[in-house]
Order: sequence, then C-alpha cells, then structure tokens
Amino acid sequence: MLYNSTRNSNVKVSSAEAITQGISTEGGLFVPESIPELTLDEIKAIGEMKYADRAFYVFSKYLTDFTEAEIHYCTDNAYSTKNFETESISELAHLFDGTYMLELWHGPTCAFKDMALQILPYFLTTSAKKIGLDKKIVILVATSGDTGKAALEGFKDVEGTSILVFYPEDGVSPMQKRQMKTQEGSNVGVCAIKGNFDDCQNGVKEIFTDNDVKKQLTENGIVFSSANSINWGRLVPQIVYYVSAYAELVKDGEISLGDKINIVVPTGNFGNILAAYYAKHMGVPVNKLICASNINNVLTDFINTGVYDRNRQFYATVSPSMDILISSNLERLLYLMTGRDDAQIREWFGKLASEGRYEVTDDVKKKLTEEFCGGFCDDAETKATIHAVYEKYGYTCDTHTAVAVKVYNDYREATGDTTKTVIASTASPYKFSAAVLEALEGKASDIDEYAKVDRIAELSKLDIPAALADLRNKPERFNDAIEKAEQKQYVLNKLGV
Ligand SMILES: *Cc1c(COP(=O)(O)O)cnc(C)c1O
Repeated sequence: MLYNSTRNSNVKVSSAEAITQGISTEGGLFVPESIPELTLDEIKAIGEMKYADRAFYVFSKYLTDFTEAEIHYCTDNAYSTKNFETESISELAHLFDGTYMLELWHGPTCAFKDMALQILPYFLTTSAKKIGLDKKIVILVATSGDTGKAALEGFKDVEGTSILVFYPEDGVSPMQKRQMKTQEGSNVGVCAIKGNFDDCQNGVKEIFTDNDVKKQLTENGIVFSSANSINWGRLVPQIVYYVSAYAELVKDGEISLGDKINIVVPTGNFGNILAAYYAKHMGVPVNKLICASNINNVLTDFINTGVYDRNRQFYATVSPSMDILISSNLERLLYLMTGRDDAQIREWFGKLASEGRYEVTDDVKKKLTEEFCGGFCDDAETKATIHAVYEKYGYTCDTHTAVAVKVYNDYREATGDTTKTVIASTASPYKFSAAVLEALEGKASDIDEYAKVDRIAELSKLDIPAALADLRNKPERFNDAIEKAEQKQYVLNKLGV
C-alpha cells in the first residue's frame, strides 16, 4: 500500500515515509492509494479479539511496509491496561434503546485523542528506523486542548524525539491548561499563543513549510513531524474503534452481522469522523455519518450547502476542542469524493487560503448529503442536553459528547430514523467540569476547579480518573505566552538553532 498526496497524486510514498513526514512537501495530506476491504466474516472474527489484536488486524491492511512483529510491538505497547483504565480500551455503554456511547476516554489524558496518540510515538520511531532516518524528530503540535496533552503524554521521554505544543491562551478549559502546564518529561515544551486555535494551527503549518526553517533544521540534524490529525499515523488508529464497536455490537447480539448502524461524531478538525468514513468504506455497514458541531458550525453549513466559508465570527464555547473554523481533514474526504482529483483540491484549498471560501461541485454536494448529515447546537442546548441525559438515564457526559447527543436527537426527530446508533463519546466529563457541573445542577457555581470535580463525582458516581486526581498537587512548569507572530522564532530558539 502506497500513499498519495491530496495535492499531488503522483506522490507515492510508503506508510513509514508518510508517518515520518506528517504532511507532504507541497502542503497536501497523505492518503492511502486505495481503501482496503474487510469482509463481514472478517469483521465478525474481529469481535472475538482483544483490542490490541483488533488494531493489529486493521493496521496490517494499511501499514504493509511494517513487519508483523513491528505492528505487534506498536499495538501491544499502546493498547494495554498499563495505559488505559479499562480492559476493553474503548468502552461501549448503552444509553437508551438502540443507542450506544462509544467511550473513547479511558486513556491517560481522558480524551479520545489518546486512542491515537498512545500509539503514534511507536509508529513514528518504528517508521524512522525503517527508512534509516537518524535525525532527531521534533513534534510540533497546535492544540485546541486535548491533542496537546495527549501528544505530550505519548511522546514524553521517547528517545530521539522532542515535542513542542502550542495552545490558544484563552481557548482551553482550566483542567486542560493545568494538564499541559504541569507536564512532566525531559523532552517536552508547552507555550500559549495569544490567539485562537486556527492561529496556532496556521502558525505550525507555516513553520512546517518555511524554507528558511527547513534549511536550518537540516544543518542541525533535526526533522519536524506532526502529531496533529493531518498525520496519517493519527488517522489510522481511529478507524480501529469504529470497526471494533461494530464487531462488538454483533458479538453482543445487539445487531445482526450486516445490519447498518448510524455513527454520530462531535467534530472539529474532521479527523474522527473521517476515520468513521474510512471504516464504512472498508466494509463496516453504515447508514448515516452524522457530523455534530457546536456554534462554530462551518461544517454543518458545508454539508447542507456545499459552500465552505470560514469568513464568520469565531466563538469560544463550552466544547472548546471543537472551536475550529478550518477542518483540515476535510481535504482528505474531498480528495476521495472528487475521484482523487488533485488539481481540484489545489484549486479549492488555494481559495480557502486566499479567500477563506470555496464551493464544491454538484456531484460532490450529492455525495456529501448521501453519506453525511450535519447539525449543530449552542452552549445552552449543550448544557440542557447534559442535564436531560443525566436526569433520564443517569449518565453523565462531557460537553463535546453532549453536542453529539443533541444533534442526534434532532436528527432522529426530524427523520424518524431508528437505525441503531453509535455516538462517539470523546472526553471524560471531568475535563470540562465547570460547564458539566453547571449543567447537572442547573446553575453556575463559583467553587474551585477541584471542588467541582468532587461534586461531579458525588452526582455522577463516576470514579475520578487517576490522572486528573493527581494534577491537584503537581507544580506548573510551563508559563510562556507569546504573540502569534513570534511563533517561528520561539520554535527556533527552543531548538537552539
Ligand atoms: C479533538 C476533539 C474533538 C474533535 O475531533 P476532530 O477529530 O478534531 O473532529 C471532539 N471532542 C473532543 C473531546 C476532542 O478532544
């Protein structure tokens, strides 16, 4: 299996090269040249495996340049109870009849990003070894809150690597900020940007493709890589849990092999839902992919109209990991939906960069609405949903997951579609304690962050994850905050070049 770039179909690299490079030199994203298929019998058999082996099975279709031993090394190290609080790694919980929460937050940082970022360092160091890269790998990350911490945990003290994370100063929750400021490890750095997530992400993208920076790195034996979901090594682990969830539902007798399900994903950068799309096209029977946004609803509009327009007000919401106006992974979807038309992608994404807007063809519009359904909700509806779900089912969900539940309820009401449905539950409610507690109690409270955590524990009867409980006593190590224009120089200084 080789990988093409969305902006140049003639690029053909191995998965090891795609993973070490992160992004293609002309700015495109790597995509596998075909989507491997799983038969229903294979999916059924996957249900009998433990999670690490399910992951092995899926990866062996994509990482064909890896040996079996190399893939096992990655999966066995990443997906064990050493890193995850539950044996099943991703937990499937019943919400109500025919609706299941796919809890993806039982890893070390309590958000679904761990599902990919626990394994990415193993993919990356294995890939570097395979292609004979003997340079120091520097991971640059732009984060809306959860990726940064998950990447820091994944890469801390991994030999031959270092990691530098940028987050929007006022765009993350207090718990997320504490998680990052207190990060341990000898090869880690964290810095706030006075701007929003898109500023952080654009800055990182520019540094990646800056020729002056590249030259200085080469001279110093350093190479950049990315832990953002533009890296294929982030995407492929996310395909696994959708295959796994389907296989699990079959195994538990909740559905029959071949029955279709809906999948609802609270979406920001379009990575998680793109993984669901890949799972569908590998052979997982899916009816609708439901894309849930908060009030930064650029994707809802896009799915409904075919016009992507980022020229709009940016809102800071109670679901900050979805406060994004440029959803990078959409590029991969559109590449597939245009029949791998790299010229078309260059045109649209050139327009996105220069005008902030593009409109897809009627053919792509049709494909979009056939496969996807988009919806959004605001903060008040998000909180009302947390409250209602708690009152009705005794289940406490985080703000991002609540957006998905609300959009799903709207979808179900509007369409009458009662197809069994998996909702991706992307974070522990403890990560967003202020909004969650306000929602549970029906009023805002001015007690401190940890008192809120304790109060949520009383109400929800959910154990406080050990990793979050431990934060109480950790010293803060990183307090830098810079203007976005200073980002490039900051990186060069930190690297000592
Ligand atoms: C990152 C994140 C999302 C959005 O995922 P994308 O892959 O960026 O679409 C949703 N919820 C939480 C909790 C997240 O951390």
